[in-house]
Amino acid sequence: MKCRHCGAPLRHTFLDLGFAPLSNGYLTAAELARPERYYPLKIMVCCGCWLVQTEDYASANEIFGAGYAYFSSTSAGWLAHAARYADKVIREFHLSRDSMVIEVASNDGYLLKNFVAAGIPCLGIEPTASTAAAAERHGIPVVREFFGERLGKRLADDGKHADLIVGNNVYAHVPDIDDFTRGLKSALKPDGIITLEFPHLMRMIDGSQFDTAYHEHFSYLSLYTVADIFAQAGLRVWDVEPLPTHGGSLRVYGCHAEHARATSPAVAAVLAQEAQHGLQSLAGYLDFQPRANRVKDDLLLFLLEQKRAGKTIAGYGAAAKGNTLLNYAGVKPDLLPFVCDAAAAKQGKFMPGSHIPILPPDALATRTPDYLLILPWNIVGEIRQLNAGLAARGTKFVTAVPKLEIG
Ligand SMILES: [Zn+2]
Repeated sequence: MKCRHCGAPLRHTFLDLGFAPLSNGYLTAAELARPERYYPLKIMVCCGCWLVQTEDYASANEIFGAGYAYFSSTSAGWLAHAARYADKVIREFHLSRDSMVIEVASNDGYLLKNFVAAGIPCLGIEPTASTAAAAERHGIPVVREFFGERLGKRLADDGKHADLIVGNNVYAHVPDIDDFTRGLKSALKPDGIITLEFPHLMRMIDGSQFDTAYHEHFSYLSLYTVADIFAQAGLRVWDVEPLPTHGGSLRVYGCHAEHARATSPAVAAVLAQEAQHGLQSLAGYLDFQPRANRVKDDLLLFLLEQKRAGKTIAGYGAAAKGNTLLNYAGVKPDLLPFVCDAAAAKQGKFMPGSHIPILPPDALATRTPDYLLILPWNIVGEIRQLNAGLAARGTKFVTAVPKLEIG
């Protein structure tokens, strides 16, 4: 296999999690009686451009098919993050009734509804029918397609050049990142700005966040590699902001390469940090597998010990990352009998691979497990607050990443 960006042959494994089903492939009761498809979940690192990328296996259509259940609006913290972002960019970039904001992967309209409320014209791009329909109910026009150079050019031809193109947690999820980036270039006005948010590879490695690896997550990105991808598409990263979201993300600001806008010193600062972490040498990538194995072993040992001791455990948050963790650890309902989740679309279904049932959060109203294993550690504060009643009754909260913590 060759690197999806620079074409160099891929020779080095960053992380090998064996075989796993798609992390968002939640199953109905009827589907439990049928065979389930597993795909290799192996991530390689390119020594030419340091793009960390999944090995090829499944098509995009299969991944984002009808069963895909992620609605951005189910996390209160994420909604607040989106509202703060909208306020900031409207002020800083003087967006008005005459502007055009395009969001790629607009999901259920969690972000663009803030621009609608401010009277700023906007357009969502979202191939997933169920979430696109939710966005349209907020008054957001949605193009129901995958984004890339072809769609970017068509938007430009239709006079829909953007002053601002936003992509939150989509950049790492596109199979052809170069084509996607050329699309951004095509749809951007001469003075336009791009902002993209994605989990920062440096923080993933530092925090042993191997559970953020799944098939839908094609690229694991450093600023170094993103700057290179932008440059090749005729764009330039002119600013960058580290964010606490998703265990540590970057928000990069882009413009046309030839634009007079000055490049912020923050860009050189983050690049230097990445170099210090060894991300421009192979050594920086080779100790990730042992870190992942340590997290997996510690969780499994904890679950086994509690089972032997007759303690009860429940899970909270049927997130994709939870599926990666549980499937790599081989956890089944005997070790974790159920997981609660606030998303109605997941309730009554089963976690892919592990077949652990997903119940609504009020299942915990009548039960007091000894331990609550919080799977989406990135929103642990929010989940602790929601379950303050359980803590008062004596339940202890547990997280597995970056290391096993109980309390
Ligand atoms: Zn490469």
